Amino acid sequence: MIKQVRANYDAPTIEKEIQKAWIENDAYLKTKALRESGERFYFLDGPPYTTGHIHMGTALNKTIKDIFIRYWRMNGYNVRDQPGFDMHGLPIEVQVEKMVNVPGRVSKDGKPDELGIRSKKEIEDIVGIDNFVNTCMNRALELHASMTEEFKELGVWMDWDHPYQTIRKDYMESAWWTLQRAYERDLLNPSSRVVTWCPRCETALAEAEIEYWDETDPSVMVRFPLVDDPSVSLLIWTTTPWTLPSNMMVAAHPDFDYAKIRFSGEKGEEVAICMECQAEYVMKKGGYEKFEILERFKGKDMVGIAYRPPYDIDPKYLKRSEYVFKVVNADYVEKDNTGLVHTAPGFGPDDYETGKRYGVEPFCPVGEAGRYTEEFPLMEGRKVKTANDDIVKYLKENGFLFNTEKIKHRYGHCWRCKTPIIYRNTKQWFINVPKVKDTMLQEIDRAKWVPDWAGSTREKNWVDGARDWCISRQRYWGIPIPVWECKCGERKVVGQISELKDGDGYTEGMDIHRPWIDKVTFKCPKCGGTMTRIPDILDVWFDSGVAAWASLEYPAKKEEFEKWWPCDFIVEAHDQTRGWFYSQLGAGVISFDRAPYDEVMMHAWMLDPKGQKMSKSLGNVVVPKEVISEFGADALRLYSVRANAPWDDTCFQWDMKKNPPLKEGPKNAWKVLNTYWNVVKFASMYMEIDGFDPEKHPIADMERYFRGEDRWMFSRTEKMKKAVTEGLESRELHKAARALEDYIMEDLSKWYVKLIRDRSWSEDEASQNDKLASYYTLYYAIMQTAVALAPFTPHLSEEVYQHMGGKKLTVHMEDWPVCNDAFIRDDIEHGMSLIQELVETIATERAKMGSKLRWPLKQIFVCGKDSGSNDAVRMFDDVLKQQGNVKEIVYTTSDRLPRDKEPTSYSDGQIVIDFDVTPEIEAEGYARELIRRIQQMRKDMKLNVEQFITIDVSAEEYLTKLFGTWKDFIAGEVRAKSIAFTDSPKGDEVKTWDVTGKDITIGITKL
Ligand SMILES: [Zn+2]
Ligand SMILES: [Zn+2]
Repeated sequence: MIKQVRANYDAPTIEKEIQKAWIENDAYLKTKALRESGERFYFLDGPPYTTGHIHMGTALNKTIKDIFIRYWRMNGYNVRDQPGFDMHGLPIEVQVEKMVNVPGRVSKDGKPDELGIRSKKEIEDIVGIDNFVNTCMNRALELHASMTEEFKELGVWMDWDHPYQTIRKDYMESAWWTLQRAYERDLLNPSSRVVTWCPRCETALAEAEIEYWDETDPSVMVRFPLVDDPSVSLLIWTTTPWTLPSNMMVAAHPDFDYAKIRFSGEKGEEVAICMECQAEYVMKKGGYEKFEILERFKGKDMVGIAYRPPYDIDPKYLKRSEYVFKVVNADYVEKDNTGLVHTAPGFGPDDYETGKRYGVEPFCPVGEAGRYTEEFPLMEGRKVKTANDDIVKYLKENGFLFNTEKIKHRYGHCWRCKTPIIYRNTKQWFINVPKVKDTMLQEIDRAKWVPDWAGSTREKNWVDGARDWCISRQRYWGIPIPVWECKCGERKVVGQISELKDGDGYTEGMDIHRPWIDKVTFKCPKCGGTMTRIPDILDVWFDSGVAAWASLEYPAKKEEFEKWWPCDFIVEAHDQTRGWFYSQLGAGVISFDRAPYDEVMMHAWMLDPKGQKMSKSLGNVVVPKEVISEFGADALRLYSVRANAPWDDTCFQWDMKKNPPLKEGPKNAWKVLNTYWNVVKFASMYMEIDGFDPEKHPIADMERYFRGEDRWMFSRTEKMKKAVTEGLESRELHKAARALEDYIMEDLSKWYVKLIRDRSWSEDEASQNDKLASYYTLYYAIMQTAVALAPFTPHLSEEVYQHMGGKKLTVHMEDWPVCNDAFIRDDIEHGMSLIQELVETIATERAKMGSKLRWPLKQIFVCGKDSGSNDAVRMFDDVLKQQGNVKEIVYTTSDRLPRDKEPTSYSDGQIVIDFDVTPEIEAEGYARELIRRIQQMRKDMKLNVEQFITIDVSAEEYLTKLFGTWKDFIAGEVRAKSIAFTDSPKGDEVKTWDVTGKDITIGITKL
């Protein structure tokens, strides 16, 4: 049964009702059950970090996923659709640090100052790791719950009741197992290296966890006097004076030219060594006016020159070896500043490598919290970045300072707490990625990437340059690294929880997070001592990297793995080239010698209108909730995928009010959906009134009553289905969405509905089959559109489907509409396209002549370039007459075109329009003007389409005579039982209209 839809497309309300109905009738689970026996399709959700809220990018991401999951389901696949959440990590720790009280802490003036944790020491000594980790757990679960609600509001159908969560024991166990694989393959090793470090969070950070912006720092040139001749100095330049206590070498480029130079001026003179080409620059910096080159040499000839460093470090801390405090070579040295680089292997990755080459061990007198240790007693306990001024003062007082200034430069900061990072030499755990790089590259080739360059260029470039992956973090809220060590050097890597049973301190069912896992110890098989766990936890990128099997709880549960693995499809944003695409590839190759995925689709970002990243600090964030409450989730979804190719960034636009008007924005998407709604409203209203039941009129019966325009509509509908299917198959969602939009706007609403208005209106018996044919065609177009729209706009599709008599519990149970080639008629489409063009041409010519659309034209002459093209137009003779409002069409050849009138060209020939106004035309014109006014009044009176009326009309006699000849026609058009011409019209509504300068008064009475 077809039921009329409500008057307005109030998307937010409709969507809430639909979501409620889905829950009430179990639509999601039943739809899944329907496909249970279908071919399995393993879709894997890239887990968003649990921030509690979704942003426009996450909305786009989940929309794309939901579109494909629904599409594959409609194609019969049994789709695995488990959502995932990335729930460990520093962001939650930092939030919890701000929430928790530190009992008993007082400020300097003795007042209680308890809110917020400020150091790891407070976590360990006062709050307790157990308390801290439990709070993180609760916080993560809260954030997970609120985020899930927002995904549901977007209309996403995933298995929300059974998500995979990286904080769950079974999941963590899979990560352990993967690490054990890495260890067994000698890919997991500890190493002492210089890493990026947050002194506030007191942990190593990955490059992806660092945000850059400008900072002002000192820029100093420092003298390092030569041991052999202290009157000559090496000049080095640095922006981190605080690293000078750990200076071990000075690096020069082997191939560059250096010189011993005498600088002189009013202030005196001195001799120093720097790069020759920088002599003048250095002279100015040092406040001298002249310089003189005393000796030239290449950088490679300087190796071994010994100098005196600014600080004397106690030899018990600083190991001396051959190249300590000497010039060495390094080819990363650039031609700027002095061309001599202060080298501190304890504080720079390049420095560290240089040290390694020259056998110089790092000296790192800075602790985890970024404070000097006892190894640098002069400033023990000071925060390094605050020590700069005092260091510079010391250099000046002791004659080491050549020049000092301030510099603004790009500097890295911790992504969570915004503290400037430092580099520190620490012991970390690394996965040897270069060792498995070749297999990773081969696997990129094997998998399908959309677009292709996402894999063949982007991912490959990233993997090609891949270095060792530092997977250890010195924090609490994460998967504990399952490595136990003994003082004797023996090591054990646990891969499954069952292995813990051999240890002391294990209790069945225990939480394997810190600190509980730290209580588990093993007896050393080598020396009989106690093996304890290393305190580190895992980089969260490793957590998500194992998702393809951890979500299946492998290796604990083998059957699920055998059923689904490997995954068929993943889709994430382009930043995941270095993130999840990469971490999964690495973890997969380590564990299974293969990428865990077969197809990777890459999508882009949603930026602000100016093309900037949306961010809280810029204040340009638009949240999905705002858009949903204004235009609905469906409009947001359609807009998100329609605006651009999935892999091109979209600059979010609210609406089209701008100048020039924007074609984009959720408002525009809403307009498309509203247009569809109005078509459905028109159809469902008439069909309900007439009790139209498509079941009773199978297409085989109806076919013989189809008019050309009906066949045209069928053909267009099939082409739309084909284009949408192609767009989905090629992952070009924008093409699919645009095909739907063009079809709804141009074919369905602007054309077909206009053509059949009169047929729907007709009540005479003889034309019933003609009317049914139009109903059937319109019904078919609407339903096929509802089904094709289902993946994109799931709520609107459902609402339409249910009102149009859909047979399934939900539209999402329908099979995907396959294009029926038998309905495609290119000849008919060609003919109709000519008619559309001619109608537009006539309208343009009318406008030029000041001829009103409602006034019929006497005749037009159509002269196609050949007889075939006249036939093509003739096919739709009726449509052209009706839509062009033409009384007569004469098909002719160019030699017979009337000579007295100017012809107008169209793509297939010429037409001549006869604008002569005869008395008959004038009568019909006025009759149509009158009908329009009456229709308007019916609308203003909110009369039902079935409502009968009577009409009084007053006008000058000349006009009433004209109306008289059209009386029956007028009455039929406006559903009037009678029309009376009188001097004083009466009725429920009386109104006087100005029609081309003549007053006409109309009175309408409801019957
Ligand atoms: Zn930090
Ligand atoms: Zn041992």
